[in-house]
Amino acid sequence: MQSLPGPERTDAIDRLEARLCRKMGRTIETFRLIEPGDRIMVAMSGGKDSYALLTLLDRFRRRLPGPAVELIAFHLDQRQPGYDGEPLERWLENYGVEFRIHAQDTYSVVSEKVAEGRTYCSLCSRLRRGILYDQAEALGCSKIALGHHRDDAAETLLLNLFYSGQLKSMPPLLRSDDGRNVVIRPLMQCAEAEIATYAQGMGFPILPCNLCGSQEGLKRQRMKQMLSVLTQENDKVPGNIAAALANVRPSHLHQPELYQAWRDFRSVESDVVEA
Ligand code: SF4
Repeated sequence: MQSLPGPERTDAIDRLEARLCRKMGRTIETFRLIEPGDRIMVAMSGGKDSYALLTLLDRFRRRLPGPAVELIAFHLDQRQPGYDGEPLERWLENYGVEFRIHAQDTYSVVSEKVAEGRTYCSLCSRLRRGILYDQAEALGCSKIALGHHRDDAAETLLLNLFYSGQLKSMPPLLRSDDGRNVVIRPLMQCAEAEIATYAQGMGFPILPCNLCGSQEGLKRQRMKQMLSVLTQENDKVPGNIAAALANVRPSHLHQPELYQAWRDFRSVESDVVEA
């Protein structure tokens, strides 16, 4: 790793990096996200979260015992109008990590197929995911790391609750339906505000995220705004949502299979305690 262009690192940024790394390490350990010898594709959108993910993972993997964990940064140029990925490419070159920039015109496909007045995001992200999965396989990667964080998980939880009638969020680890890929989200327990401060302090050259001209999923924006209002009233809200995701009471939900599985689990647990 070479020294990076950008602002001087301050003690405060060093401390923040250590804190984020500790939180990420706990998530990795709890959900066994990384194993020795893994080759991990780090999806780089050029946004703050992806830069933070790459630098934190790089710091983390250097301390791991056993066969080395390899990282390969991967950026997809979707041929959006006005796109300029050069700042990211220069940064990656300087940083010294293996990387690939892959160009594939999903923009034309999306703008052709999506009816006027509808947002592009759903089809766009589905296409992007397919390309990531194919490329990860082609590059011999055992896992794909995404930069989603605690606040993304909270927004997704509310989106699913309000608009899909499902009680689910973003998992830290997910095997794709066809079993070809494993997706990991090491920053799942890190707060967006801390990642933003870190990204600013590190001077990452952020690529603008609305080049496609589409309105970013309006419902997600509404969830973000709602959480922001609630957080202004009570700053414990984001942490409490994250805590709730790790503190589920199936006995107080209404799904019969889940209720039964919970009862079976509890009775096995009490047998073990009594034995
Ligand atoms: S904001 Fe643009 S690039 Fe992002 S998912 Fe939506 S359409 Fe795709």
